[in-house]
Amino acid sequence: RNVKRQTACRNDINRLNAPFLAVFESLIPADEEKVKQKQLLTVLEKLVGKEWPEARLYLYGSCANSFGFSKSDIDVCLAMDLGNVDKSEVLLKLADILQSDNLQNVQALTRARVPVVKLMDPVTGISCDICINNVLAVVNTKLLHDYARIDARLRQLAFIVKHWAKSRGVNVTYQGTLSSYAYVLMCIHFLQQRRPAILPCLQGMEITYFATIDNVECAYFDQVEKLQNYGSRNGESIAQLVWAFFHYWAYCHDYASDVISVRTGSTLSKRAKDWTRRVGNDRHLICIEDPFEVSHDLGRVVDKYSIRVLREEFERAAEIMQHDPNPCVTLFEPY
Ligand code: ATP
Ligand code: MG
Repeated sequence: RNVKRQTACRNDINRLNAPFLAVFESLIPADEEKVKQKQLLTVLEKLVGKEWPEARLYLYGSCANSFGFSKSDIDVCLAMDLGNVDKSEVLLKLADILQSDNLQNVQALTRARVPVVKLMDPVTGISCDICINNVLAVVNTKLLHDYARIDARLRQLAFIVKHWAKSRGVNVTYQGTLSSYAYVLMCIHFLQQRRPAILPCLQGMEITYFATIDNVECAYFDQVEKLQNYGSRNGESIAQLVWAFFHYWAYCHDYASDVISVRTGSTLSKRAKDWTRRVGNDRHLICIEDPFEVSHDLGRVVDKYSIRVLREEFERAAEIMQHDPNPCVTLFEPY
């Protein structure tokens, strides 16, 4: 009887595959957008090159990690040797240069947590943040991009989770909820845990990519074209995975003791990381280890109020996946 019921449930859930894939397709940026982003990057490279010929510009974040929605802003990192010069000074100089080239809404935010220059390009309509020497973010962008190339279900799942988080207002770090980066790591971890696994643990494999950045060693297997069939032994559909993702975060994750870790492809104990007490503002109420900066908990923005908001949203989503007649609509209803 059990077997029968499970099959019935699975058939049911699989009716949601087409609508979930339609949601995913509707969020993917068109090719023209990629062209425009490159165009803007070229403009910026020219302007920056005149003042700092040694400097390099890199796209990072969702415009480069393959988890970006249509019409998102782009994140750019200016990598250069600052010598004795102050970062704020360079940002102000950069803002000056950009301002005098018809770029709009140019603003240097020198006191932000990550200091940036913001701008809008009237030609392409793209808004952009430029930070300086945030090279770790460039490398974690590559890691996410490499994971996405292994199994198509990661990108589908992460788009749906990000869309849910944005619709429900739980993708706002200054309000104590999680960054898009954290949600993508949660998806990668989740797919590493499926049996059979859908994603491998790239940092546990032979090292083919290596970089030391700000004294952090970043090393992993990046020849992902060799892993194209990795997840094929697992036939789970996108609807099943969305269901299981929310079920995991609503009812199965051990918030009191566990840390999720893409780096190790498993969970670690909070005790082993010494993440059991509040230190400064880090409360460790939901623990997501950064794959490279391992002392960095991406859940550190979460406070005792927002953890309840988050967990109630996970439970709402799990409930909808279980019982709602139309999850592909209800899940994304504005809060
Ligand atoms: P969105 O589509 O919501 O803009 P995003 O992937 O660009 O998504 P952001 O939160 O804007 O996400 O972050 C941009 C990039 O900065 C991330 O992809 C990641 O590389 C890096 N990043 C963001 N937050 C952190 C963090 N707390 N620690 C380390 N790197 C981070
Ligand atoms: Mg972004």
